[in-house]
Amino acid sequence: MTNKLKRWSCPQCSAGVLAPSRPRKNNVKRYCLSCSEKKGVLVERVCPSLDKKRSERKSASIKKAKTKQATIAERYLIESYDIRKAIKPIAKMMTTQIDNILPVNMSRHKNLRNVIVQVWRKERHSSNGHAETFGNRIHVTCGTNLSDALFVLIHEFAHMAIGRDYRDDSIKSHGREFRSVQRSAVKLFNQSNFRLRHQLPEVTIR
Ligand SMILES: [Zn+2]
Ligand SMILES: [Zn+2]
Repeated sequence: MTNKLKRWSCPQCSAGVLAPSRPRKNNVKRYCLSCSEKKGVLVERVCPSLDKKRSERKSASIKKAKTKQATIAERYLIESYDIRKAIKPIAKMMTTQIDNILPVNMSRHKNLRNVIVQVWRKERHSSNGHAETFGNRIHVTCGTNLSDALFVLIHEFAHMAIGRDYRDDSIKSHGREFRSVQRSAVKLFNQSNFRLRHQLPEVTIR
């Protein structure tokens, strides 16, 4: 094993010795024996070059973690708005208003708040999405236009609101009933305090 020797010095008398960078616990070179004797307790030598390296490594890893966090956050920013912040309010709004959104013959026992929303990004203007009513999951691939991304989010939640227990073959997935649910949900969103408070754009159905 090649172990380059390092300079260890006493913080009290600054006398130094050469020792491995990881001396054994009981290696006497760890301690300044003359200072220890004077003090009556063990005085440990320090290795400035190792300390410096350690602190450099630490700050580098902190910096790396911060960059990674920033990159993750940036992925969700659309027109400087973190799209993740709209998910819960939209789910809550549509759940509490489900009576007003759904046609009378549809089941109301739905909680959209536990729908899992997966957000992806692309660099195009428009967004697209996909609703897995059986998996209780929504995938939204957000483009660069916030209004459109919010629309797609609401569109997918409209699919979830209709859900799986309304699967009459005569009902198309984007049929009349769906469009009515979507219209109500978009209207709710546009009139919501949430949208106004966060100065979010109005959503239009495309
Ligand atoms: Zn000493
Ligand atoms: Zn759809």
